[in-house]
Amino acid sequence: MNISGTGIGRGVAVGNILRMAPALEVPSDQLRPSTIEFESASSDVRRVLQEVSADLQKRADQAQRSKESSDAAPILAALSQMATDPALGQSIDGALQGGKSPERAVYEGFDEFEDKLRALGGYMAERANDLHDVGQRAIALLTNSPMPGIPQSDTPFILLADDLSPADTAALDMNKTLGIITIQGSPTSHTAILARSRGIVAIVGAEQAADLASGSRVIVNAASGTITVDPSDEELQQAELHKQHAAHARLLRGKPGSTKDGRHIALLANVAKPEDADTALEYGAEGIGLFRTEFMFMASSTAPSVEDQTKAYAKLLGRFPGKKVVIRMLDAGADKPLDFLTPENEPNPALGLRGLRTLRTHRQILDDQLEALARADAQTDADLWVMAPMVADEHEAEYFVTLGKARGLKQVGVMAEVPSIALMAQEVAQVSDFVSIGTNDLTQYTLAADRTLASVGSYQTAWHPAVLRAIKLIADAGNSHGMPVGVCGEAAADPDLALALVGLGVNSLSMTPLALDDVRANLAGHTMQEAQDLANRALSGEFYPQARH
Ligand code: PEP
Ligand code: MG
Repeated sequence: MNISGTGIGRGVAVGNILRMAPALEVPSDQLRPSTIEFESASSDVRRVLQEVSADLQKRADQAQRSKESSDAAPILAALSQMATDPALGQSIDGALQGGKSPERAVYEGFDEFEDKLRALGGYMAERANDLHDVGQRAIALLTNSPMPGIPQSDTPFILLADDLSPADTAALDMNKTLGIITIQGSPTSHTAILARSRGIVAIVGAEQAADLASGSRVIVNAASGTITVDPSDEELQQAELHKQHAAHARLLRGKPGSTKDGRHIALLANVAKPEDADTALEYGAEGIGLFRTEFMFMASSTAPSVEDQTKAYAKLLGRFPGKKVVIRMLDAGADKPLDFLTPENEPNPALGLRGLRTLRTHRQILDDQLEALARADAQTDADLWVMAPMVADEHEAEYFVTLGKARGLKQVGVMAEVPSIALMAQEVAQVSDFVSIGTNDLTQYTLAADRTLASVGSYQTAWHPAVLRAIKLIADAGNSHGMPVGVCGEAAADPDLALALVGLGVNSLSMTPLALDDVRANLAGHTMQEAQDLANRALSGEFYPQARH
């Protein structure tokens, strides 16, 4: 039997299920015996919440000291504070005054707070589950019940849980955890974030896994998002092969990207904030191929100052002395709207003011960002390349390159995301220092299919021959003019597609750091001739139908 969910990463794990202890029963709504005074009930609750808070703080301190789980430390510390939040205490006291039992009052008090977080949606809604866990701990102490959480095991296991809280994950013994399956959870849930940052094989949102019993043997395949229950010998052999490939791929980490016959293809990382440099370096990135600078602008209702921007850019550049770092100018608009820049009333925002178009209408922001980049460049030794998003043709390319050069920036280029720039690639190659192809948008615009819309989601594959032909136009122009052409969209993270892109003539690939191992290994296993053969078959549309369905 196969169960599906959302796979995190690309790994495969084989092992036996270990279920997490079931959640506590919801405490009964009956009133407490009248002999128990409010004061004594309230002081019991406070003592228990103090205990839970202290325990969480202890775990936060432990997590902070451990390299593996330091990312859980701030969340645990925040939860420790929440446990003794005065507003929460008041809400619990309110229920106690109404005659509720201590455990019921705790349940209601937390429930109210969790609802508030859920109503905020997104990241905050995910934190509601974390808060729920804090309440459960308090209820377990009040009712002398076994603490919910990770069960103990002497042998390695695949953990099956409803969802995991930070407190659970901090307690996970990584030497025994082969993989994680959660019944709830989305790609942004805490489990998913943790799995990604530690490279744990995980599948989240696998609703049908709710019926799996402890001890069931399973294969967890994160790449395909499937859990195979009671696998056959053949399925086990395939999983073993997959694991061997992954282990082999890890061995190549630290080596530069290269085809089997020695053509160097720089393998770079996509990052969203300077701190991501750690992961990029850990996975052997040869530099940064796309730093999305939006994070700084999203944090407030005005543009960050030149000083703040300079600091952030210098922080990233400082981690890559002598190495290439491509920083992208602010890409506001469409799927990345900014209140203070993006018009509210555009009927088709993806076709409206975004990327360079937004920057041209807000020259101060454009100038400030270039100034900050020039200052950061002067302070550091990285090889800084700067590019603009959403550039339509050679005129816009020239406009941006001229501005960048006037600031003293050495490598100034453009992203290829709009089909028109591919059609004008020969002219663009005469004015731009480099082109980086954003296949996410290039696919969206070539196929006229909104990348954020699930109903047309199946169009979003760069295997479409029209997208590949557009890429070839750019690669050909680059190669005939000696202009570097890279790919920094999601397509570069797919090992097979990455090989086809190399066959089309691109000379660098930038991707989420976790994809680097597999792409590096696939390139190392094939010659340039094989890459070109694959590209030719792809250009004729051979792989598109399967990729789409
Ligand atoms: C792209 O469009 O492929 C790209 C890399 O940019 P973003 O995904 O940030 O729009
Ligand atoms: Mg884009």
